[in-house]
Amino acid sequence: MDKAQIQARPTPRAGIMDIEAYVPGKSTAPAGVRLFKLSSNENPLGPSPKAIEAARDVAARLDIYPDGSARRLREAIGEVHGLNPANIVCSNGSDEILGLLAQIYLAPGDEAIFTEHGFMVYRIYIQAAGAVPVAVKETDERADVDAILAAVTERTKIIFLANPNNPTGTYLPFQEVRRLHSALPKSVLLVIDAAYAEYVRRNDYEAGVELVAGNENVVMTRTFSKIGLGGARLGWMYGPLHIVDAVNRVRGPFNVNATAIEAGIAAVHDREHIARSVEHNERWLAWLTDEFTKLGLRVTPSVGNFVLIHFPNDGKHSAAAADDYLTARGYILRRVAGYGFPNALRMTVGTEEANRGVVAALAEFLKS
Ligand SMILES: *Cc1c(COP(=O)(O)O)cnc(C)c1O
Repeated sequence: MDKAQIQARPTPRAGIMDIEAYVPGKSTAPAGVRLFKLSSNENPLGPSPKAIEAARDVAARLDIYPDGSARRLREAIGEVHGLNPANIVCSNGSDEILGLLAQIYLAPGDEAIFTEHGFMVYRIYIQAAGAVPVAVKETDERADVDAILAAVTERTKIIFLANPNNPTGTYLPFQEVRRLHSALPKSVLLVIDAAYAEYVRRNDYEAGVELVAGNENVVMTRTFSKIGLGGARLGWMYGPLHIVDAVNRVRGPFNVNATAIEAGIAAVHDREHIARSVEHNERWLAWLTDEFTKLGLRVTPSVGNFVLIHFPNDGKHSAAAADDYLTARGYILRRVAGYGFPNALRMTVGTEEANRGVVAALAEFLKS
């Protein structure tokens, strides 16, 4: 070994230090101010009470390793969603699955596609795999199937499609997803990230189950995070057996912890809590959209559990100024400049009190 090698320090692979680390939503308010965290799309109704109880019960058995295949959890998900548990893999948040898919199907020099305002972690995982991130233009803040198809090359290995997308809240009707899939080479993996599927109330929306079932190159990823278990870190993938097999070889042997497994089983069976959460969201999503629009703010039409609010370019009422104003009052929204929206904020649908509070505060702010 030469002297330079002996004296050097470990160096990450090429490209790793080009990655911009993910910045989670803020979660602190100024001292003495009550906090309303509306920055991470968590459920304002909290976890299912049954999940809380199940998680408590695990505490006394924390010495025992979890079931590495999360069989009972996969069976519970399968039962509720009408899916074969053999086609399901559970994960430490759906983020983990997205990363594993990138790691498995991308080699250095390969390309992976996502959309302009798409969820930020896709780029991170693509770069971490040494592949080339290809961001495709959207039309009216919505994924554009023709633009995606035009970006496909011989090097394309994965397309990450958030449906609905975060932070826009827009979605592709299922006809469009089918049109996208049917024009893709069979060697390209279509990853449908349906993190907000529970919240969508549209007749032309489907999370992707049928497309997965009938094909070898589509997976759907889901999460428990937006419906009340963000802290448990629990996600899952539904996919063809050959992809399930590959993911099971690469994932950590105990990637889902015992608390998440038990909380997840209880949560997926608590249909009443999910229904209540969805109902709350439906009501307040519409209300917030109306109220912000009445204040003269443009809101991207959302089908998720959040809204993207655009601020005027009058130099006085920027998103940054609004964010400071709201933060001082305890309302923590999400800055989305990194998503290509320098003058917008994303707000999670909150409790009635939080929602009314933000609308009142923004009305004041706009008068100032
Ligand atoms: C929140 C979110 C996820 C994943 O969250 P996990 O907590 O890792 O399950 C995935 N995709 C999108 C679009 C999201 O907004």
